[in-house]
Amino acid sequence: MAFDKFREECGVFAILDHKDASNLVYLGLYALQHRGQESAGIAALVPDGNGGLRIAAEREMGHVADIFTHERLQRLPGDTAIGHVRYSTAGGSMLCNAQPLVASTAKGPFAVAHNGNLVNGDAVRAELEARGAIFNSQSDTEVFLHLVARSLAPDVEGAFLDALAQVRGAYSVVALAPGRIVAGRDPNGFRPLVLGMLDGSYVLSSETCAFDLIGAELVREIGAGEVIVIESEAGSGSPQRVRTIRQAHGQREARCIFEHVYFARPDSVVFGRNVAATRKRFGAQLAKEHPVDADVVVPVPDSGVFAALGYSLQSGIPFEYGLVRNHYVGRTFIEPKQSIRHFGVKVKLNPVREIIAGKRIVLIDDSIVRGTTSKKIVRMLKQAGAKEVHMRISSPPTIGPCYYGIDTPKRQELIAATHSIEAIRDYIEADTIGYLSPGGLLDAVSSEGDNPERLYCTACFTGEYPVPSSEEELTLEETARA
Ligand code: AMP
Repeated sequence: MAFDKFREECGVFAILDHKDASNLVYLGLYALQHRGQESAGIAALVPDGNGGLRIAAEREMGHVADIFTHERLQRLPGDTAIGHVRYSTAGGSMLCNAQPLVASTAKGPFAVAHNGNLVNGDAVRAELEARGAIFNSQSDTEVFLHLVARSLAPDVEGAFLDALAQVRGAYSVVALAPGRIVAGRDPNGFRPLVLGMLDGSYVLSSETCAFDLIGAELVREIGAGEVIVIESEAGSGSPQRVRTIRQAHGQREARCIFEHVYFARPDSVVFGRNVAATRKRFGAQLAKEHPVDADVVVPVPDSGVFAALGYSLQSGIPFEYGLVRNHYVGRTFIEPKQSIRHFGVKVKLNPVREIIAGKRIVLIDDSIVRGTTSKKIVRMLKQAGAKEVHMRISSPPTIGPCYYGIDTPKRQELIAATHSIEAIRDYIEADTIGYLSPGGLLDAVSSEGDNPERLYCTACFTGEYPVPSSEEELTLEETARA
């Protein structure tokens, strides 16, 4: 059933023509680990022993630092490589779905790594299967391989453009072929992708924090709808150039606001804005919209930290680290098993009694999804002696699932989709609750002269989906029946 389809969160990285290619991709993925902790992979162009090139790939379940041992990276020599980190909800957590996906086609070897979800992935796949295509994974991304392989275009670039013309939804994608990297973003530009430069070699990454780690300079963001080819002008070792081979126009931009709310790392520049600064603005706006008399502002670490700083600066209420996070456990929400998630909060967070006891607390988090985390934290703070707990959320109520590459549960499991704000307050046992307004959210990311309503996707908060998804229709029917 389409609405049981798993959702994927991912990060991508690529580098052309650098002597340390796979090592640099490894470091890039290490910096992008927050975008997916379930599997990771690197694909590199290596000599095939006959004077040509083939693509070697190493993919594994687990974290980047555990997967890529010295031996493994040595199996990926060569100077051009792409990489991927991935998380998906239950059903999709299998090694066969780990990326990059690799195929040998009539146009040569080809590998692809994709961030985002295609809204017509199922339909394209069904059509290809009906014509005899055999799929090896459950991932949306595999349709790219089949479409490239079947394209009648004479070269990989043309075939890649053919493939992109047949898919709809969210993709920031990097692809590897002999002598080149092809990369692009969907016409709405849901997910980020940036171009950088290191030692004369171009690099691509989901986020700039990966450039900071390897010492690459940010060149520019890949535009919404833009597809580029990076190649060396006269073969390996010579100066590189970037060619734009498609610039799709006519669709409104739909940058994912949730990258700024939660998903991206605060030290990254995403859609031209630093994430930490944006989160501070969300927090300041939240303080204006939902002021409260309190003694301390306490973030839920790490997701609420920068918004809490903004709230504290705006309100004048001191900021305190009243909850300490154990960094040696995975993101509990992200564990596919429900049993682990329920156990998770205590494993991850502990209150500092000396800061909390006897105080009126403003508790800041970025979002409430099912409500289980907030409920446990409020209880934890009360047990540690908090006099009052005022929950403040630095985004609007999450009322709609994401079909474009953020892992959110089905609509019925989103507490704000089925409960009033007062009922949520009651459920999480907070004294008061306040969410940032949709207008306040967009104000915080707007620059002079632009219209953030036409630039950002806020579907998870507004229910307005910029690209229709059959999944959405099915889910709405299901909600109506429930
Ligand atoms: P819940 O217990 O379902 O309400 O989860 C809320 C917590 O999950 C908040 O602390 C958020 O920071 C975090 N969160 C929100 N969206 C995601 C996501 N896509 N992946 C992982 N964690 C998330």
